[in-house]
Formats: sequence, structure tokens, C-alpha cells
Amino acid sequence: MRILIEDVTAVTMCEETPVMEHAYLLIEGNRIGYIGFEKPDTDADRIIDGTGLVVMPGLINTHTHTAMTLLRSYADDMNLQDWLFEKIFPFEDTLTPEMVYEGSVRGIQEMLATGTTCFHDMYFFQEETARAAEELGIRGVLNEGITDPVLDKKLEKTKTLLELVKQGSGRLKVGISPHAVYTCSEETLKTCATFAKEHHLPIHTHLSETVTENEDCMKAHGMSPTAWMEACGLFDVPCVAAHCVWLSNEDREILSRHGVSVSHNPVSNLKLASGVAQIPELVQAGVQVALGSDGASSNNHLDLFEEVKLTGILHKGINLDPTLLPAWEVLKMATINGAKALGYEDLGQLKEGYLADMILLDFAKPHLTPNHNTISNLVYAVHGSDVVYTIVDGKIVYQKS
Ligand SMILES: [Zn+2]
Repeated sequence: MRILIEDVTAVTMCEETPVMEHAYLLIEGNRIGYIGFEKPDTDADRIIDGTGLVVMPGLINTHTHTAMTLLRSYADDMNLQDWLFEKIFPFEDTLTPEMVYEGSVRGIQEMLATGTTCFHDMYFFQEETARAAEELGIRGVLNEGITDPVLDKKLEKTKTLLELVKQGSGRLKVGISPHAVYTCSEETLKTCATFAKEHHLPIHTHLSETVTENEDCMKAHGMSPTAWMEACGLFDVPCVAAHCVWLSNEDREILSRHGVSVSHNPVSNLKLASGVAQIPELVQAGVQVALGSDGASSNNHLDLFEEVKLTGILHKGINLDPTLLPAWEVLKMATINGAKALGYEDLGQLKEGYLADMILLDFAKPHLTPNHNTISNLVYAVHGSDVVYTIVDGKIVYQKS
């Protein structure tokens, strides 16, 4: 299958040519075959007229619990500990595979329609999320959520998931997800780290989301959650840590030294009043920062463009410095940084040979006119609903009607 996008404004996310006007982009199979200013001399099965459209790499949501769309508007205006232990965990005890499949379908449809082409999931019954992802065509890294007790059973589920994914389209990968220091014992954390090393799996976890988590960890183990996770070996493999709201300089140094990527989830952190992660300090410390929505129960939607805008303005506002995190840096977090955080070397940029995951946005709209600066408009003015095509692995998986 060959798809040719003609006369389009391409935001490549490459430093040398960030924006290309009147460009042509050819998709061959599941890869980008050509991007440039000459019309390629080849037959295409499908031609998309790019006039008035912007094409960019698909957004990468590095932290979500997709099936939590089931819990949208179920429990709001509560702090994290009460929200989790009084409302969310009791509901989750009643989950069935069918419910998770249904919630996953809804969540993936929402992500594809708002520009996310790759997601990093952590939840239960991940084989059902895998089924939904295969059917709907999204790319993703799936992680069975692990909390105490019955660790063996949950590790078995990860093994089953690995086998399932091996037989699939190749768009899905598997990691391992010890939930957090406050839901996993020392034995659980260490066993997960050993399992990850043995099976060459990355880790996906929550880290330092609230002050309470830090205080409890300090009381129990005499160290911060970051130092405790390091001591348990979780950072000996590639790791994405979500939230990281309450970090010390020492914590940031630990994350930087181990190459841990941080998934910044500003909407969820604000809604649960967990605080604001010090993202400029993390970037300064050399930590790779990507963006995540968290679940639809704490957000309450999966439109990652909202995280993009919020990241672009929140840190400027609280630091009284409008030069912090310029638009280009924020857009990198949502694309190339996310790709790297999830272990992809050929994703997150529009480049020949890279995986053909991209979105097209309709810029012929009043709220995007005039377009003095495409990068600025993508960060500060676009909504997820401006997406008109979503392409994953060379296939059109969403088209606005
Ligand atoms: Zn989460």
C-alpha cells in the first residue's frame, strides 16, 4: 500500500528542517518512503490532498490506563489516596475481561481521534487491551499492573501477554509494571526488577506522585521513593516513571544517571492536587521528559494536545518565566522524546525509513488563522478535534467524517 500526501505543511520534528511548506510525503508499506519538495515519480494507491493540512508525527502517550475510560466521571474532586483506596481500587476489584475490552476500545478510539498513535498502558487484563489495540490499529507498549499480593500469578500474566503479542501484528510490545512503592512490597519490586532483566523488558511505574507517598516511603525505608526504587534494581533496565512531582536534586541525579525517562502528566497532577512536577529542573538535570494523560478517571479525557498546551504554559506561569520550555521543546516531549522513552529508534519524526505513524490536522479553521508559526499553533492553539487523519504503521486508522 502506498499513500501519497501532496502539497502539505510537514512538521518533521527534525532539528535541520523542522517545518517544510508545500512538501510531499510518500508512505510505502509501514515506513516513510520519501519526504521532500519534489513530487515522487511513483504510483500511489491513495492520494491525500494536503492543502490546508499540517502533517506531523503521531503523539505518544507515555502513561495511561486506557480501560479507565470505564471510570470517567466516576470519582472526581478527591485527593489521590482517598480517590484510589475508597473509589478506584474497590471498583477495579469488580472488573471483568469484557469490561476491560470495552473500556480499551473506547479509550483507543478516543486516542486515535485526537492524534495519539502510540500508547504506554498499565492496567489489568492487558490481553483484552491487546485485542482492542490489534483490532483498531494503534501502536503500544502494554504492561500488566502489578500490586501486592499474588505476585506469581501476575508475572505469569506478563508471560502470557508476551506470547500473545509475539503472534500479533508487531505493533505491540510488552513491559512490566510494578504499580508504585506504596502498593508493592520490597519483594515485589525486587522480583519485578529481576523478571525485567531476565526477559529484557522495560519497566513502567508511578513515582513520587504525592507528598504522602514520599513521607511514607521515608518512614518505611529511610529513603525517597526514587532512591528506594534504585535500591530495588528497578532502574537497571530501561524505565518510564510517571509523575515525579516531588523530587529532590539527588532524586533527579539518580534518574539522570540511570537514563530513566519521566512521563509528565500535568492534567492528572493538577486535578488530584498532587502538585506540579519541576519539569525545567528535570530537563536541566539531563532527564528525558515525555508526556502522558494518565487514566480517564483522573484527567478526564485522553486528548494529549491538552497536556501539550498545559506543559507549554504551566511551568512558565509558576516560575514567572515565559522563556521556559519553548513550544518546540514541548512538542518534542509529545513525539520524539516519547518514542525514545518507549525504546523506539525509528519513530517520533517524519524521516525517510522511519515508521509511518503520523497525523494530519486541519489548519483551515478560524482558531488556527493566521498561521504565523505552525509550531506555536500546534502547542498553544490546536485541539485534538482538529485531527482529520490518523495513520499508524502505514494504515489510515482514523478519518474524520
Ligand atoms: Zn497512572
